[in-house]
Amino acid sequence: MKRREFLKGAGAGALAAGLGGAPAVHAGRTIRWKMVTTWPKNFPGLGTGANKLARLITEMSGGRIKVRVYGAKELVPAFGVFDAVSRGTAQMGHGAAYYWKGKHEALQFFSAVPFGLTAQEMNGWLYYGGGMELWREMYARFNLVPMAAGNTGVQMGGWFNKEINSLADLKGLKMRIPGLGGEVLKRAGGTPVNLPGGELYTSLQSGAIDATEWVGPYNDLAFGLYKAARYYYYPGWHEPGTTLEAIVNKKAFDALPKDLQAIVENACKVVNQDMVAEYAARNNAALHELVTRHKVQVRRFPDDVLKKLRELSDQVVAELARKDQDAKRIFESFQRFREQAMAWSELSDLAYLQARQAG
Ligand code: CA
Repeated sequence: MKRREFLKGAGAGALAAGLGGAPAVHAGRTIRWKMVTTWPKNFPGLGTGANKLARLITEMSGGRIKVRVYGAKELVPAFGVFDAVSRGTAQMGHGAAYYWKGKHEALQFFSAVPFGLTAQEMNGWLYYGGGMELWREMYARFNLVPMAAGNTGVQMGGWFNKEINSLADLKGLKMRIPGLGGEVLKRAGGTPVNLPGGELYTSLQSGAIDATEWVGPYNDLAFGLYKAARYYYYPGWHEPGTTLEAIVNKKAFDALPKDLQAIVENACKVVNQDMVAEYAARNNAALHELVTRHKVQVRRFPDDVLKKLRELSDQVVAELARKDQDAKRIFESFQRFREQAMAWSELSDLAYLQARQAG
């Protein structure tokens, strides 16, 4: 029985190799990739999205590529993912571009910009608006090929232990908020910190931070953040549709035959879209549970707070665009798309949602 399973598992190529059949050796060789991630292993939505991507690549390739997923800290720390894949320690990674702003600040445009694009609009910009070409160009300098591989949709504004009634309430606030949103908080007088997801609950519980944002009801419920903070604010002005990324070591990607390259790219596309659907379904149920079972106090940021945050965001993004030529080009592409998207979304999604709520 064991021997039969072994023969079946080994496949015709390996068997032929054992018998000295040279041409079949190559055809039967399995490519083994490691995928390091910034998420806790199997974390709902994010970690499971990475798992799904690995499984799809293996299934679609008929087992020619086998991808093994590592959670944060299993092989490298959460924020070591970019370097690990760049160096080739792992062939693949899953995370978000704003974690790598230390490499180049403009990379943040490829994950989330405060008051920027929604999930649908991000995908429009990346796939059909020139965004992906710019992203590929930037990451090629680090020996990486990026792909969109998930999107959380509009996030929540975060967990606070006091009410936010004016901008002054953000002064002195130590909050976990990554990327450009963190820079905006700094301008509002707060202290932004960046922590991997797995450290949020204990940091908030111990008082090491005063507030945190994470993702939305589905993920925030999973971390039990409601046990460490009283108020749950919306909307997630700082992350209106965060794109998650899959990164592939460029050398490893270039070494693949064309059909396997297409499989990797299209598996990412599937997961990118699938995650939006998953969040749309799971956030609904989780919000209901947070409110009814855990009695979470849901609050909307006051209009004047949002207005000021929007002004600060515009400043921060415009300043980033002046950093260098790359930042300028990416900003201009993003901004051009954003203006047109706003005009169309006003007539489509926004007008429809308003009409539906009014009914
Ligand atoms: Ca977030």
